[in-house]
Amino acid sequence: MKILVINSGSSSVKYQLFQMPEETVIARGLLEKIGEENSLFCQKSIKGEIELKNQIRNHEEGINFIISMLTDSRHGVISSVNEIEGIGHRVVHGGEEFNGSVRITGDVVRKIEAYSDLAPLHNPPNLMGIKATQKYIPGAIQAACFDTAFHQSIPQKAYLYAIPYSLYEQYHIRRYGFHGTSHRYVAMRCASIVREGIHALNMITCHLGNGCSIAAIEKGRSVDTSMGFTPLEGLIMGTRSGDIDPAVMFYLENKGYTCSGLNDLLNKKSGLVGISGVSNDMRNLFQEKENGNPRAALAIDMFCYRLRKYIGSYLAVLKQTDAIIFTGGIGENNAYIRRESLDGLEALGIVFDDARNQNIQRGRDSCISADSSRIKVFVIPTNEELGIAIDTYEIAQRSKQKE
Ligand code: AMP
Repeated sequence: MKILVINSGSSSVKYQLFQMPEETVIARGLLEKIGEENSLFCQKSIKGEIELKNQIRNHEEGINFIISMLTDSRHGVISSVNEIEGIGHRVVHGGEEFNGSVRITGDVVRKIEAYSDLAPLHNPPNLMGIKATQKYIPGAIQAACFDTAFHQSIPQKAYLYAIPYSLYEQYHIRRYGFHGTSHRYVAMRCASIVREGIHALNMITCHLGNGCSIAAIEKGRSVDTSMGFTPLEGLIMGTRSGDIDPAVMFYLENKGYTCSGLNDLLNKKSGLVGISGVSNDMRNLFQEKENGNPRAALAIDMFCYRLRKYIGSYLAVLKQTDAIIFTGGIGENNAYIRRESLDGLEALGIVFDDARNQNIQRGRDSCISADSSRIKVFVIPTNEELGIAIDTYEIAQRSKQKE
């Protein structure tokens, strides 16, 4: 069965076409700068790589263009859209309604629309992608896979903020958590590596990319995570501050900052770029540190310290942990950060093996703890698209059996 995975952002659409259940990627591509004069398109497949510039005015035109390239006589990989039997959409916010991936119906679309209030930058473009594929690939079964869904199992004591309860009732203010597809995917991979059912394992998953979050997973279910009402809370990220005393905002407001200025400050100008003053990209920071830039070194130190603090708190939350997993661009590639966040914790059951840590094979699942370590530590490359494809395949199979 061919499954198309769509990640529709504000001005871009990323996609991958999978053959399932084999999990092979038939084609992958990216359309960027939608709405600008020179939208950029690239696609990779067995037919080779193609890059084009074209004016794409909106998401509907974008999806139509992607379909034309997937079915193109020279560069395409399918002869007709009818070959696509399922489409899985990444949707950022599913509020309290969705604790797993679902087949998209009119009711699901209305609920995603309603949650746009909580994710105004993400849910509306996600919906544009859904509506465009419904129009151009009407025969396919469509599924929505939510970034928030995996964290819906978090108990109330962990998801509520200690502010008046009425604000939760009136405005749904609570911790939702994000990156759920990634945390769940690497947790499932870990279960298959250690040959246990996911429901038998307690894990701490660290998704460290440009956005960073960490999750405590008890018997396969998320019981706490660092991102909150929005992705701003928790770990230090490329441009986001993570945890901060909210009173700093009141103080800055008195100094003349506006609400939107503060939003910009915390989401776009803080984190690694805010501290270092040079870059949000970890690779650049290591280069700068080597060149003797003390603020780049400080940003790296702060990043590791915050991560170590969260890992420690989740070890306490889980009481007994079987595995810690690193993933995301930084988690998968940066041996220094993995070591700095975990070494010296032998008393807590973690025996880090730095030789293994330094010598992992890129893109492969690897164990970086010593054989004697009670808690195993793994590096597992994330694959959110495959996670979405697996869910969509299951939903499409079930729907077909019912029909
Ligand atoms: P992501 O959002 O998952 O693509 O991750 C982006 C982050 O991963 C950036 O901070 C990159 O600097 C970092 N990253 C990617 N590759 C490497 C690498 N080889 N070494 C260190 N950091 C890396």
